[in-house]
Amino acid sequence: MKQLLSAAGRLVRQFPRTHLLLSMILLGGVILIALQPDTPPRKAEIQAKTITLPPRPAPKSEPETAPPVPTGPQWQTLTVKSGDSLSSLLQPLGIGASQVYGLINSDEKLERLTDIRPGETLKVSIDDSGRLTGVQYHPSRVETLTARLRGAGWEARLSQREYQKQTRFAEAEITDSLFLAGAAAGISDKLTMQLANLFAWDVDFVLDIRKGDRFRLLYEELYLDGEKVGEGDILMAEFWNQDRHLTAFRYETRSGDVEYLDIKGDSMRKEFIRTPVAFSRISSRFSLGRKHPILNRIRAHKGIDYAAPSGTPIKAAGDGKVIFAGVKGGYGNVIILRHGQVYTTLYAHMRSFARGIRVGKRVKQGQTIGYVGASGLATGPHLHYEFRINGVHRNPLTVPLPKARGINDNERAEFLIAANRLKAQMTLFAEASTLASSDVF
Ligand SMILES: [Zn+2]
Repeated sequence: MKQLLSAAGRLVRQFPRTHLLLSMILLGGVILIALQPDTPPRKAEIQAKTITLPPRPAPKSEPETAPPVPTGPQWQTLTVKSGDSLSSLLQPLGIGASQVYGLINSDEKLERLTDIRPGETLKVSIDDSGRLTGVQYHPSRVETLTARLRGAGWEARLSQREYQKQTRFAEAEITDSLFLAGAAAGISDKLTMQLANLFAWDVDFVLDIRKGDRFRLLYEELYLDGEKVGEGDILMAEFWNQDRHLTAFRYETRSGDVEYLDIKGDSMRKEFIRTPVAFSRISSRFSLGRKHPILNRIRAHKGIDYAAPSGTPIKAAGDGKVIFAGVKGGYGNVIILRHGQVYTTLYAHMRSFARGIRVGKRVKQGQTIGYVGASGLATGPHLHYEFRINGVHRNPLTVPLPKARGINDNERAEFLIAANRLKAQMTLFAEASTLASSDVF
């Protein structure tokens, strides 16, 4: 234990990362600026630290070995250059558009072959008759996509290497903003965002934050071949906001869904996101009568218009199923999602739909379903968003949102064991951190 604590002490670090703050300000953009209270910014004095403990024991399951790299006379390696598509890459090898079409449309996984980027490599095999018979591609550092021609169709396999994971601890007191505190605690902007998203249903990180608020969290750090490649999920997070103490535990359900729950097993989130797009301003509110800017006559506006730059991602407001994806008159490109029996949400004037979005497709809350545009009757790029309960339009800004379902009763005992294990780990880390920062060593 003593050895562990002194190791922790050595690893306590502090690094202010002003560029991170800048990027967060840009990210928050006009919303944050617009909502910023009138108080002048305080000079931040941040106390933050992160410590690390030895890695957890390796998972019991054997890590999946990467498939062998295909070699041999039939296999050749192609490097993607700027402006290349899969077709233009394969054409000089005598592979025509119909073969490429057959390949990428035979399996959803193979659609990723249309995402190739300059500098990446692709292995292809071509038989004696000039037919494409195999493709191997790495969509990311951990993924390998392999396709082989079997008879007339393609068989695709996506395999993933396992990251080595290490549990890390970070804590910080907020004197200015959450993002500044996150930066001082040495956690990435991605992780700070994850933290903010976790508590976003209960805490407004612009208006509710007070000097002296603090957080601590356990999270995963990811390694490949001994090299740190990024941060994984938050495992547990605690947030002290004014006189409230909020706690969230990451839990993977038996069905494989990852949820963040409080100690009672209730979900941290609501069933719907209030605002499905990062907008710069609300350009039109919900009303039952207003003059339409293009049609120039009084018409109800049964949704909210969020002005945002063309191409801004639009997120699914809740878990659901696509029941419409296409053109609908003045609405232009429209997606309608059904959420259970009672709720539907509608997203209009999209520039385009996200890859794979089609009728019948299931989507998760927060998943990008399309991009802001000005299709249909629109004076400029914006998202027109509607929220309906039993087919009746409701104001998306004010409609009470139901809480997402928590843990299933038959899984509660399992969850409590996992949550209490995390709690004990958090306590251990926090004590080590306190000792490390005192004069004991
Ligand atoms: Zn509208």
